[in-house]
Amino acid sequence: MIEMQDVYKTYSNGVTAASGLTVKIDQGEFVYVVGPSGAGKSTFIKLMYREEKATKGMITVNGINLSTLKNSKVPLLRRNIGVVFQDFKLLPNITVYENVAFALEVIEEQPAAIKKKVMETLDLVGLKHKARMLPTELSGGEQQRVAIARSIVNSPKVVIADEPTGNLDPDTSWEIMNILAEINLRGTTIVMATHNKEVVNTITHRVIAIEGGKIVRDVQKGDYGYES
Ligand code: ADP
Ligand code: ADP
Repeated sequence: MIEMQDVYKTYSNGVTAASGLTVKIDQGEFVYVVGPSGAGKSTFIKLMYREEKATKGMITVNGINLSTLKNSKVPLLRRNIGVVFQDFKLLPNITVYENVAFALEVIEEQPAAIKKKVMETLDLVGLKHKARMLPTELSGGEQQRVAIARSIVNSPKVVIADEPTGNLDPDTSWEIMNILAEINLRGTTIVMATHNKEVVNTITHRVIAIEGGKIVRDVQKGDYGYES
């Protein structure tokens, strides 16, 4: 499903942020990616959806070899990968509905099919009643729920989340985790970089720890393993 073999990433400034990553993540797994700031967690994740290109090594996602994938085919890859960010990255000037519909409209679905999928997905995240609002009219937790709806509306096989609870208070963070759990129960792989010790130690899943661009720990039902 997601596989890396001896993957390296050196940025143009000479920093090596991935240094021999080898890992296999199966369909349906829930994986936390932990480690200190600057360890290479974001890089690890960005390599999976070809936001960054590996300098060396092999990456396959959903059977697609990212090393040889043409830039023009990257949008095709992304249809099967939902991405969620710490700062939500919603389009501020269009409604909640339009933010979620956007991903479907670009793949030329029929209007009725779009409407059905968007409303079902907003319902799943508990925001059907706010479809007409603008992102700026919502709380942070609600904005993140919209971002999650946007990420899953195409029914991707994988959702990649980079610190999805990083800007949220504890109660709201638990809500977001419940939604991710629900998505995972439906068979979607979740890869989530996080500093949320409380979450990782409470809702236990596989934990991959990265330090200095290397995987230093990879355990099923692991714990956070750092002080904070
Ligand atoms: P983390 O997500 O664990 O904080 P990152 O993957 O963001 O780690 O960063 C790993 C290292 O790579 C850091 O030293 C960071 O400064 C560097 N880095 C990240 N992105 C870039 C970039 N676009 N250009 C140059 N260096 C980068
Ligand atoms: P939550 O229920 O996620 O904790 P809040 O308590 O922050 O959300 O917000 C309660 C309600 O107020 C939400 O339904 C949200 O739509 C609305 N709201 C929050 N922040 C704003 C804002 N900046 N502008 C307009 N409405 C807001």
